[in-house]
Amino acid sequence: IKKPVASPLPKSTSSAPLKYNISSELVQTKKPSLSFVVIGHVDAGKSTLMGRLLYDVGAVDKHIIDKYAKESGNVGKGSFALAWVMDQTEEERNRGVTIDIAVSTFYSNGIQFTIVDAPGHRDFVPNMIAGSSQADVAVLVVDSATNAFESGFSLDGQTKEHAILVRSLGVDRILVAVNKLDTVDWSFDRFEEIRIQLTEFLTKVVGFQLSKITFIPVSGLNGDNVVNNKSDVSWYSSKKTILSELESIAINEKSYSLKKDHEKDFRMIIANFYAVPHTSDVAVQGKIDSGSVQIGQLLKVIPSGMVTQVRSISPIGEDSSTNKSESKREWAIAGDNILLSVPATSIDLDKVSVGDVLANQDSNIESVHKFTSRIVVFDVARPLLPGTKVLLHRGRTNEPCKISRLVSILDKSTGTPIKKKPRFLSSGQTATVDIELEGDQTIPLDTFSNSKELGRFVLRKGGSTIAAGVVDSLISSKENTP
Ligand code: GDP
Repeated sequence: IKKPVASPLPKSTSSAPLKYNISSELVQTKKPSLSFVVIGHVDAGKSTLMGRLLYDVGAVDKHIIDKYAKESGNVGKGSFALAWVMDQTEEERNRGVTIDIAVSTFYSNGIQFTIVDAPGHRDFVPNMIAGSSQADVAVLVVDSATNAFESGFSLDGQTKEHAILVRSLGVDRILVAVNKLDTVDWSFDRFEEIRIQLTEFLTKVVGFQLSKITFIPVSGLNGDNVVNNKSDVSWYSSKKTILSELESIAINEKSYSLKKDHEKDFRMIIANFYAVPHTSDVAVQGKIDSGSVQIGQLLKVIPSGMVTQVRSISPIGEDSSTNKSESKREWAIAGDNILLSVPATSIDLDKVSVGDVLANQDSNIESVHKFTSRIVVFDVARPLLPGTKVLLHRGRTNEPCKISRLVSILDKSTGTPIKKKPRFLSSGQTATVDIELEGDQTIPLDTFSNSKELGRFVLRKGGSTIAAGVVDSLISSKENTP
């Protein structure tokens, strides 16, 4: 692929008035959509459940599943056939190499669902961090089999880490699939035991509101309460299924919150970008954090400052062969996962990185080297000292940096400082700290009060997540030098 050469936009196209006034009425005409990330301990049944969901909504042909059943049966893993649906889609994506994000899309009752960061990835947490920042809802899968829930929920189990992570990354709605209930004879007591323990944990430790948590008893393997209701469970009167609950969230909860978000300034963290082969376009992919975008709109890439103009907008994960009418849009708003195409001549690909921000032409988002933040320390083997080197993750980017100063330890419930200049931070503490990027690196950031997406991050060290935080204030480069 020949590398495009950057040059200014032709003046004639740049200042035309925009076609749409993105009003609430216009937003109402938009089809509902919902993206979700699937989390949980290894072997909890994530792949099987998602395979079952895709199969039962008719997104996978019966002959494909039969083929996998035969192939996987041949290697003695008969029940893996549903999970293979997920893995296969991923393999196909990898071969197609269009966009490097694991997304599967399906439709139900006119709602577009996107499974972000579908299971199948083995190096799960960094991908989950990337995926979660693009998700509206988390589906937490727990294994109800005897002792299995307990091992997933133990100190080194992933159930807890994943739940804390998605919440830290801004997902505030969670659906818990209490899975494999077939292995415990659909025991109400077992379901209740898990529901009570997890409710306590999700509300008190992780910080989900009680009204934002739904528990659904399921068997992914047998397809009970995934799409089709299991009618012979007398104690389960609500009849909710995974699909019915996702639909209800898309219609009743998500569309409501969008009414506010689309009125803000346009912002999208770049999750991926590439020169589109055989065209003079560059494609930029991401989830719109706030505001709206339309064809013809001028946008600025931060930090490079390059100005570009939207040529076309496509929803992500679209299967253009079956949904032709839906495969292009003239406008999109907060919450949409999209692929924007812009003229290759307006963008120097060497000056763009994943994690850069696309914003309105007049945006004043800063790219900073150092900032003050409030962090929550996860379970750490050793206390965190000033100077601790960490990786800062936000969306799909990670930047080496250090915790340069410990300002104070905060009271967890009130947020007021209880100890100034601590010598170290230990597990479970909340603190104000300064974070400084390595060398002279900068990252486009904003305070959490201005932007939930640009003001939130996760810190990792040696392959595990050690803290999650929000940006309190940016430290300008002048204040940097003592
Ligand atoms: P993942 O690692 O969370 O993606 O888990 P998988 O989907 O690969 O499933 C792990 C194992 O649990 C496989 O052997 C599945 O067949 C089995 N499994 C998944 N869901 C169920 C279920 O609802 N009931 C039973 N009995 N087994 C299940």
